[in-house]
Amino acid sequence: MRAFEFHNGTRLIFGQGKLSSLKSEVPKYGTNVLLVYGGGSIKRSGLYDQVITLLKEIGAVVTELSGVEPNPRLSTVHKGVALCREHQVDLVLAVGGGSVLDCAKAIAVGAKYEGDMWDFVERKAIPQDALPLGTVLTMAATGSEMNGNSVITNEATQEKMGWASPWAYPAFSILDPVHTYTLPKDQTVYGVVDIMSHVLEHYFHQDTNTPVQDGFCETLLRTVIDTAPKLIDDLENYELRETILYCGTMALNGMVSMGLAGDWATHNIEHAVSAVYDIPHGGGLAIIFPNWMKYNLKADPARFKSLAVNVFGIDAAGKSDEQVGLEGIEALRSFWSSIGAPSRLADYDIDDSQIEVMAEKTVRFGPFGNFRKLQREDVIEIYKMSL
Ligand code: NAP
Ligand code: FE
Repeated sequence: MRAFEFHNGTRLIFGQGKLSSLKSEVPKYGTNVLLVYGGGSIKRSGLYDQVITLLKEIGAVVTELSGVEPNPRLSTVHKGVALCREHQVDLVLAVGGGSVLDCAKAIAVGAKYEGDMWDFVERKAIPQDALPLGTVLTMAATGSEMNGNSVITNEATQEKMGWASPWAYPAFSILDPVHTYTLPKDQTVYGVVDIMSHVLEHYFHQDTNTPVQDGFCETLLRTVIDTAPKLIDDLENYELRETILYCGTMALNGMVSMGLAGDWATHNIEHAVSAVYDIPHGGGLAIIFPNWMKYNLKADPARFKSLAVNVFGIDAAGKSDEQVGLEGIEALRSFWSSIGAPSRLADYDIDDSQIEVMAEKTVRFGPFGNFRKLQREDVIEIYKMSL
């Protein structure tokens, strides 16, 4: 293990009926609330009305920012920052999926910064303050509810980039599996792929003596693989939604990755695709990850063998590590296909015309990936394998 410090300041409020905790949480931060939400799913599900009713009961003054896009845009962040200033907002309250939460994080730090919030994404400035943020999550996927990460798209420059800050952790997050019942099958699958990808990004590391962390990762993967196929046939099953929701949080709240540096190349490679083509993040990951794995198999075949044996139950007797590793990659690909995830860029009508442009975006901050450093040429190969 490498030396580490761990701190996660988010109060996680999990379980059926927990929405009412808004009444005790919100007043801790003030009365002026900016309610941030997406394209209307919370209105259709009735969650919007429930939130407004609870906020009224505690006398909160609510300003709204609706229409946050999947792959949230910088222009929407700017709108939110302006509303915070105009209405002297005390608390940003995000109700939705990872896109809404990520946008709200950007608004929360942007509201306390005189320059353009994009400076933080470009690493030109570091957040020094933020408005408090609360969240009500409606989709298991990103882990944004309990981490300090956010991904924003600058539509003017076609850049999609992650940023992270201790100031971006939500003060509290409310997770009720019932709020995820209305998530359609395709988005449920994208969420499952994203959760598994976060675990895999941790799993492909080069640190030593990490048996607990590796075991946590394998348990999460096996659990998602066992649960997801049942869930997509039974979308309103409480226990299945509960399991996936908890896995989503645990996959990226820092609990399983203490003392190691995960890879994160695949996320970077996917972000460049969704920056140019605006595809769902989980869909892009399902296409790219198995190809990243094949491309890097030789870097550490034993690691791929562990995944194959411990997660997919592949019989390793008499086979080389590389052979077993490859069978594990194929098992992952088959699993994702079996639940309906895409497997090729062509599934989104993406051809080879923008490969160079996308590859250039991935190396904006130089070679990347901790399991194996990738250069622009490596990324071009992985995109070609993904066509
Ligand atoms: P999302 O983009 O927040 O939501 C996808 C779609 O699902 C939206 O159309 C949304 O509709 C709908 N939806 C959400 N909850 C619903 C519900 N309960 N019922 C019906 N529809 C619902 O999806 P996401 O995967 O959570 O977030 C993706 C973004 O997060 C990407 O930009 C990705 O790069 C980023 N990301 C962030 C992190 C992180 O750590 N912060 C990690 C990985 C990825 P409405 O808009 O109408 O609500
Ligand atoms: Fe992700």
